[in-house]
Amino acid sequence: MNCPRTGKPMEEIEIGGVKVDVSTGCGGIFFDNFEFKKFDEPFEAPGEELIAASQKYSDESVDTSPRIHCPHHPDCVMMRHSFSVKQAVEIDECPQCGGIWLDPGELGKVRALFPSEEAKSRAADEMFEKMFQSPEMQAMKSKSDADLAKAKRFARMFRFICPSNYIPGKQDWGAF
Ligand SMILES: [Zn+2]
Repeated sequence: MNCPRTGKPMEEIEIGGVKVDVSTGCGGIFFDNFEFKKFDEPFEAPGEELIAASQKYSDESVDTSPRIHCPHHPDCVMMRHSFSVKQAVEIDECPQCGGIWLDPGELGKVRALFPSEEAKSRAADEMFEKMFQSPEMQAMKSKSDADLAKAKRFARMFRFICPSNYIPGKQDWGAF
């Protein structure tokens, strides 16, 4: 499997019992939908480890504006979702397999939301509250079961990439 941005090989790594693919070209991360299903079990968010793996290859000079094709389904253009937190976070999702692509810049943005040790849990709560009040998430929640499942999948992905100290509380609609 190759990186949808750079064409370089993806390196499979296992973190917290979940396999993710990290681009050796840019540090982008691909989460496949099958792996997300495992996230129904409680887990310790392995954010630090994931961030270290991504930073090893990180190249933020890569142009992340073009739409990309799913690394599993090269025929499939990934859909872009934009979440409004302190900084916009954009993620790409394959409409066919539900795989999610995260550019290295996006991982950095989520991480930058937690600049200090103090007030970290409050910051995490605020971030997640904003995330789930975004029009994108609200639209998913208010539609079909499939959309709600998708919203939960995104929620798990965000939780997974959060440094472990910053796991926020429960969302009222059971995202976590
Ligand atoms: Zn796909």
